Amino acid sequence: MESQLHIYNTLTGQKEPFEPLNPPFVGLYVCGPTVYSNVHLGNCRTFMSFDLVNRYLRFLGYKVRYVRNITDAGHLENDADEGEDKISKKARLEQLEPMEIVQRYTLDFRAKMADFNTLPPDIEPTATGHIVEQIEIIQKIIDAGLAYEINGSVYFDVLRYSEGDEYGILSGRKVDELISGTRDLDGQDEKRNPIDFALWKKASPSHIMRWSSPWGEGFPGWHLECSVMSTKYLGETFDIHGGGMDLKFPHHECEIAQNKAAHGSHAVRYWMHANMLTFEGKKMSKSLGNSILPDELFTGDHKLLRKGFHPMVVRFFSMQAHYGSTLDFSNEALEAAEAGFKRLMNGLDKMKSIEVGSASNLSVKDYSDRFYAAMNDDFNSPILISHLFDLVKTVKVDGKEKTVLTQEDKDALIQLVHGFVFDVLGLKQPEGKAEAGDEKIGGLMDLILEFRQRARTDKDWGTSDLIRDRLKELEIEVKDGKDGAAWEIK
Ligand SMILES: [Zn+2]
Repeated sequence: MESQLHIYNTLTGQKEPFEPLNPPFVGLYVCGPTVYSNVHLGNCRTFMSFDLVNRYLRFLGYKVRYVRNITDAGHLENDADEGEDKISKKARLEQLEPMEIVQRYTLDFRAKMADFNTLPPDIEPTATGHIVEQIEIIQKIIDAGLAYEINGSVYFDVLRYSEGDEYGILSGRKVDELISGTRDLDGQDEKRNPIDFALWKKASPSHIMRWSSPWGEGFPGWHLECSVMSTKYLGETFDIHGGGMDLKFPHHECEIAQNKAAHGSHAVRYWMHANMLTFEGKKMSKSLGNSILPDELFTGDHKLLRKGFHPMVVRFFSMQAHYGSTLDFSNEALEAAEAGFKRLMNGLDKMKSIEVGSASNLSVKDYSDRFYAAMNDDFNSPILISHLFDLVKTVKVDGKEKTVLTQEDKDALIQLVHGFVFDVLGLKQPEGKAEAGDEKIGGLMDLILEFRQRARTDKDWGTSDLIRDRLKELEIEVKDGKDGAAWEIK
């Protein structure tokens, strides 16, 4: 029996045993991107982290419904409900329709997610596709006496809410401190209290993205869409809600308050937050010039990068840190990950050559227990990877101490390792790189090496070296030994 999955719940600050509300079903909601620019690496890390969560839950046999939204309206430039809508602004600057901006960057986002081999969500709802539902929830919150309309906008009444519930329950912020930390810059704030947040904003005459509502033409507040879409597709109470650490406040705090106000209960049972990404210890930001886009990382076309890295190397690198820790990018760390990834892939290949015998001298169950224990401990992928490397190092296919397994154990080991490497960690052999075990490649290599051997027999060293060098350019290394030539994909 494997250990039980535990999840670090950021709401309670505790690692808790995971008990889904309606097993074997699991509802998972993750805040998706605001599609007004190319997806940045920090976001990619968040989505790779929750891809690991989604994959492992499925691997354990749960029937997961994974919902990840696309924010295509309502996300303003700052958190104080002021400024332009991010998508409208980009549309204005590029002289495009807002929906052209949304389409362009949604496609970019999905392409990058595919590069990183993340599984697509089961439902990918958009804010603009759920205006009606958002209006309904606003009305419910008004009816509950926890929101008020003023000049065509509707605000959540944080003070009123905090008379009965704790606002700040997730982020640890205190209402008094939040109030003293706000400044009413121009004295024209129409909110009753500066910490109230918008559920609906009246659209100014120049605002392009606008919808009719009982309060006039306007658009929904950013925090509302996630409350609405998560509960619409996963129920008023559901299992896991995830997002980047930066969304804890105010976004997720507001979600909690909205759900409680509208439905009378907390929606989320386990809150999970993925940590940030840094470059050489510094937060990535455009102003510091150290912000790298996924494509720049793949091609190496960025002044801070020495070379490009395959998306699978980047994914492997991400999995080498726990999702709750910061992940620090650097050329050295990525190069080390590249070498580690090759070592792991070669190690998997090696397992196909394990000798079969009547008794096993390696315990598959022992490794199985260790792999599950690592992942059951709050999805601890770096520990899982260290166990995988330990296995790769332990398995020997030649020499005195070579590994021998029964056929049954060998099949079980390969299945186990493939399960954790490909299905759970979501790694795959980089495209264009054949698996050494691929039959056709094996046949072709036999043929090429046979021609090379003939050249050597004829003392045609020029041809023999040419074949070796050309293969090397393809990252296939030929090694001559006393039993003939062997080859390896580097
Ligand atoms: Zn959200």
